[in-house]
Amino acid sequence: MRKEETKFTSDRRNFMKTAAMGSAAGFLGLNGIHANPVPYETPGYAKAMAPIKIKSVKAIATAPSGSNLIVVKVETTEPGLYGLGCATFTQRAFTVVTAIEKYMSEFCVGRDVDNIEDMWQSFYVSSYWRNGPVLNNALCGLDQALWDIKGKRANMPVYQLLGGKSRFAVAAYAHAGGKTYDEVAANVKQFMDRGFKYVRIQLGGYGGIGAVPATPDFKTAGFGGEKDLFMDEHDYITGVPKLFETVRKACGEEVELCHDIHERSQPIDVINMCKRVEEYRPFFIEDPLSPENTHWWKQLRESTTVPFAMGELFNNVNEFVEPMVNHYFDYIRIHISQIGGITPAMKVARLGEWFNVKTAWHGPGDVSPVGHAANLHIDLAVWNFGIQEGGYFFSEKEQTVFPGCPTYKDGYLYVNEAPGLGVDINEKEAAKYPINNNAPGWTVRKRDGTIIRP
Ligand code: MG
Repeated sequence: MRKEETKFTSDRRNFMKTAAMGSAAGFLGLNGIHANPVPYETPGYAKAMAPIKIKSVKAIATAPSGSNLIVVKVETTEPGLYGLGCATFTQRAFTVVTAIEKYMSEFCVGRDVDNIEDMWQSFYVSSYWRNGPVLNNALCGLDQALWDIKGKRANMPVYQLLGGKSRFAVAAYAHAGGKTYDEVAANVKQFMDRGFKYVRIQLGGYGGIGAVPATPDFKTAGFGGEKDLFMDEHDYITGVPKLFETVRKACGEEVELCHDIHERSQPIDVINMCKRVEEYRPFFIEDPLSPENTHWWKQLRESTTVPFAMGELFNNVNEFVEPMVNHYFDYIRIHISQIGGITPAMKVARLGEWFNVKTAWHGPGDVSPVGHAANLHIDLAVWNFGIQEGGYFFSEKEQTVFPGCPTYKDGYLYVNEAPGLGVDINEKEAAKYPINNNAPGWTVRKRDGTIIRP
């Protein structure tokens, strides 16, 4: 004891030392009381949760309706128990197949099927470099397949595992296109007759590049590729308000109208166009900025009151944080296989709840029926659902390859109530439709041939 130390401090130190040793001894079971944990007998209702391992992981590639679709199949050590997940990156389908078969399979075999979050985090960092669409799509295939398996094990549809239903079905929007304003309006009416209350309107080809004109200058000059598309930026920007005006006049106020800019226009043009569209009350304007122009968000948001949907080209959930906390947009446009699956999509959806941002998952034809089902299971469960892209009717071929496809009725999409995601695959049928390298590119050019970023 040092000279100035009192008896009190010395006693206190000895007491703390003893107490610490006591608690450590107790924790380690050295006092004998907790040396043997009380045996826990699994109740009958939980017996199905005995450990199951992953036996194999493979990619199934098929294009029953022309679009390349990739599905991951995870087989387990439990006979007959497997899961399916969507890993569709149409434009680079073969690279995803390679990622699944050459890397993911070896990574997964022998691991526990139950720990989805751990599997997700492990695969996410195992390549060190991340955020790429190829590996994210592969990861989504695994993630959704594990949710599918968990649902089958629990004998519940996946939406039940996510918290149960917040609504009876999922409201969807259809795509109305056309070569003229009147043709678009007529197509909107057709969708309204089929029960749709939300319709996306675009003039011209898919994604809306305006009415297709005579041969553009770059083609006459022999510049660029044969399949490259032309967009007249001026026609597009001045045409969209006219399109809204025509459709509103023809179809009335009861239908909700969306439009996708597809990131192609200059930010200052977008601001001017959105201000002119305000009076037609769009439900949302989608993807107003390319990933290279996201620093325009603040100015865009402060310049117009149209609601925005954004995020289709985001690669990582972290990209949503800044726009959400700053209230830059209103709807989350995640392509769920691009972001890595149900696990990360649920995190972004929940984050959105805190900032009054709603979901609007990407759901075009280049998502497999398994992926569409995954979109819908989340839509059913989260409170802040907004709308689902999916005026999409599965072809007969798709329904043969994927038994259990979601269904449409009177404006709403439904999943079946089978355990898991509810969509199966007929591998024999799938093999009849090999994938190809013919996926349409996104090469759109200005009159002089300059590339426009989508
Ligand atoms: Mg889009």
